[in-house]
Formats: sequence, C-alpha cells, structure tokens
Amino acid sequence: MVARPPVHALQTNWVPELPFQRRTAAIMSKTTVSWKAVETFFPWGRFILSWTFPEAASEQQDPPVVMATIVMEKIGRLFINLQQVRQVPRMLTEVAPSMPGTLRDSEMPRFFRERHIHGGYRPLHQDWRYYFLSLFQRHNETVNVWTHLLGALLVLLKAAQLAETVDFVRDAHAWPLLVLLLSSLGYTGCSATAHLLAAKSEFCHFAFFFLDYVGVAQYQYGSAVAHFYYAVEEDWHRRVRGVFMPAAALLCCLSCLGCCYGKYRNHSLPPWVRKVGQVVPSSLAYTWDTSPVFHRMLTCAPGDPALPFHCGQVAFFLSSAFFFTQPLPERWLPGRCDFLGQGHQLFHVLLVLCTLCQIQASHLDYVGRRALYGRLHGDGEARFFLVLFVATGLACASIAVFMARKVGRLLERRDRSK
Ligand SMILES: [Zn+2]
Repeated sequence: MVARPPVHALQTNWVPELPFQRRTAAIMSKTTVSWKAVETFFPWGRFILSWTFPEAASEQQDPPVVMATIVMEKIGRLFINLQQVRQVPRMLTEVAPSMPGTLRDSEMPRFFRERHIHGGYRPLHQDWRYYFLSLFQRHNETVNVWTHLLGALLVLLKAAQLAETVDFVRDAHAWPLLVLLLSSLGYTGCSATAHLLAAKSEFCHFAFFFLDYVGVAQYQYGSAVAHFYYAVEEDWHRRVRGVFMPAAALLCCLSCLGCCYGKYRNHSLPPWVRKVGQVVPSSLAYTWDTSPVFHRMLTCAPGDPALPFHCGQVAFFLSSAFFFTQPLPERWLPGRCDFLGQGHQLFHVLLVLCTLCQIQASHLDYVGRRALYGRLHGDGEARFFLVLFVATGLACASIAVFMARKVGRLLERRDRSK
C-alpha cells in the first residue's frame, strides 16, 4: 500500500515513503546535533553535509528537522533511482548478449597482472563497445572508474553552484579558481577514461595511462595557481614571486615526463629507478605547489575560515599518497579485493576529497581575501597564468604523444622479432 503524501513544504516533490525512510526520519528528528557540534568533532562535517544536503546547510534553520525532511525525500528518490539502476545489467545483457566474462590472472599476459589481484581481468582485443559497456560490468577496474567519474560529477556540481555567484568570464581574479575547477575535471576524467579503456591492448594501456599523467600534471598546475593566487601570505609571495608559476609549470612537465618514462621502462629498469623517476618529480612538484599553504598553516592567526579546508586537503593528499605507493589492503587479503577494497580505489577517493577541500578553501579565499590578492596580483598576472595553463597542457600532451610513439615503435619491433 502506498502512504499518503505528508503535509509539508516539500509536498510537490513527494515520493512514496518506505519503512527505512520513516525510521531514518524518526532517528534524525530526535537527534540533537547542531552545526556547532558537527564542526567541533569533524571540521569538514558541515562541508560534506552541505554538498549532499545544500538546503539543510542554512544557519537559520534547525538542521536535524530540515535534514530529516530532506533526507526522507532524497532517500526515496535515490531508492527509486537505484531500482532503475538495478535494471541496467539486464538491459545490458539484452543490448550486448555476447559480453565476455572476466578472466583469472593466470589467463592474462604477465604485463597486465596486478600484484595481489587474482581475478576480474577483462579480456584483451575486444571491440571498443565492449570496453565502454564494461562501465556497468563487475571487473577489477569498475570501482576505479566509478570513483573518479563520481568525483568529476561532484566537481561539476560545485562548479555549477559557484557559477551562480562568481563571474568566471569578466572577473580576472576568478580565473585561477576556474583553472583549478577545469584541471580537477580534467584529471578525474582522464583517470576514469584510462581505467576504463586501458585493458584493450598493451599499447592502449600505455597510451591511456600517459593521458592519465597529463591530467595529473595539469591538476598540479591548477593547485599551484590557486595556492599562489589566493592562499599565499604576503611574506611568502615576496620570496617566490616571479619564479613560482614558471617553476610550477616546469615541475608539471618534469613529473609528466618522469611518470611516462617510468611506465615506458616498466620492465627494463629496476623498480627503485622507476620509483625515483616517478615519485621524486611529483613530490618536488607537490612540495613547491603547496608551499604557500604550508607557510600559511605555520604563520596564520586562528579563526581563519579557510584553514580547516587547507588542513583537510593536505591530510587527504598525504593519506592518498600512502595508498598510491602501498598495495594495501590487498597485500594482506590477496584475491579478496579483486572488485572492492583495493588501495588504488582508496587513493582515488582520498584524492577526490582532497580536491573538494581545495576547491572549498580556494573559494573561501577568493571571497574573503580579495583585498590581499588584489594588491599582490594585477589583472595581467591572471591572464598570464591562464596562458601558461594552456601552454603547460600542450607541453604535457606533446610529452605523452612522444612517449606513446616510442612505445608504439618498441611494441612493433618486439612483434616483428617474434
Ligand atoms: Zn587511478
């Protein structure tokens, strides 16, 4: 039996109530949490909640009551949407009845085997349609694709929300924030594409992960420009002005080259040489690009509204770097994390959280520090950083194309000699 619509302001969006919705609403309406308590125990709690329930984030309203109503409505909609999503595998089977199943690691060439991942490998050399449709298939890259696709969607939603108050076209001071948003969309999109399509062949594996490195390098630039423009303190600006952004652009290109070259020499160099090639330029780039934030964290006065988000982005980034370098928890549970729970999936999630904190911090700085950054950076500087963003992107793309050609020639030579 379908319940009658409740008499409240959200009546127009009414959806049938479900038992767990009623329970959630009952629990939440009895909750005595306030935003103050949320912020005391979990500094980013309000930020994360307001991403999910923006209507409940208002200071004037009683959060538990508003949230109870909104949660009820959203869970109801989500449940209906999930019911539709559950039809997808059946629809896919109808559309593509011959989608091949996944393989064990012993059935794959050594090159494609991941440490401690024993199953869920997609077969090689299928047509492109198979790899695109494998977005909805259960395999060992599904969660890696979806974590960054959802990350891209969250960044897009935030960008749309910011565009209501920020004039990204006419206000030159908003361009560094625009670069950060574009580069965040870029790296999540490139990464999702790489994880989705790299399984087609050895060449595709190289080419799409080179694309992933271009996205990461561009994101490094986006971070550098937002930190240097909005987060920098006058003292640090005086020491690094004139060299900060050119050096950041150079480090982007070096880290893209180091990552591509490390991947290219994957099997012919000892692991430590590869790691040095990949990790050293990226660590140098991160330290340099984030130096305005580190300086501010050490010197700023308490009560700075953006500081919790800057601390958040650093904490999330450092924890993501840990899971990037360590194959955990799959090393402890070999063969048990083939679908869900791989360290790389945790790396993706933590990096998205880092990005969301960074965008929030940069927006708060854009709104609250206009007098300072307006004095430190003239209008021409924002234009120069925008041009440098495009130039760095082109340079990184050229590095990736150059390395992909090298890989192509190498694979051709190897195939001929067989
Ligand atoms: Zn990845």
